[in-house]
Amino acid sequence: VEGERLQKVLARAGMGSRRSCEDLIAQARVEVNGEIVLEQGLRVDSDQDQIKVDGLTIATQSYLFFALNKPAGVVSSMEDPEGRQCLGDYVQNRETRLFHVGRLDTETEGLILLTNHGELAHRLTHPRYGVQKHYLAAIQGPIPRDLGKQLKNGIKLDDGYARADHFKVVENTGKNYLVEVSLHEGRRHIVRRMLSEAGFPVDRLVRTRFGPIPLGDQKSGWLRRLTNPEVGMLM
Ligand code: URA
Repeated sequence: VEGERLQKVLARAGMGSRRSCEDLIAQARVEVNGEIVLEQGLRVDSDQDQIKVDGLTIATQSYLFFALNKPAGVVSSMEDPEGRQCLGDYVQNRETRLFHVGRLDTETEGLILLTNHGELAHRLTHPRYGVQKHYLAAIQGPIPRDLGKQLKNGIKLDDGYARADHFKVVENTGKNYLVEVSLHEGRRHIVRRMLSEAGFPVDRLVRTRFGPIPLGDQKSGWLRRLTNPEVGMLM
């Protein structure tokens, strides 16, 4: 028998577990080559057949990766039922379903990866993989000499200790400081909470790197396709 079972191909494309992909099929939400499929276990060719879920083509073979420089005020979801600015507003190609790799809080700017590789998107945000993220934070000085040491030793938060891997003062005008904080943590508002707990509320926060992928000088609101070597480093 040729091909792979449809629910397996859907699951690999990030549409959920095989079980929940069977539900998608049963709910008549899946099309193969323009026809709704209700049969479970239909064999498909993931290179040749066009497969859609809810009318959107899903990528069953070739993976897409983008880096977005998220502006402040944009929520980290592909769609927003309340009509607020969201990540989906920055993607022109809506033919393929994209997933965001983790989140930035609404007021935080900078690098967020988007991909149609749902499984990898999920994996990259799992604490077990410990992807290192870099942030630039604007705070008001003066700061104590040992602020970096405090952050690296761990700051006690409501939900446990949080530790930074690196800390560096990037710019210092006496009053206004720009500091770089790197960490593996993915907890909500983690950098803001750590610095605030240490006595330095964050005025502005920008993510400048996600694992091997740098933001570089990419303009705010711009999307770029990752290069093949970059994709290789993520996989
Ligand atoms: N830390 C924060 O405070 N906000 C983010 O969006 C990411 C890390």
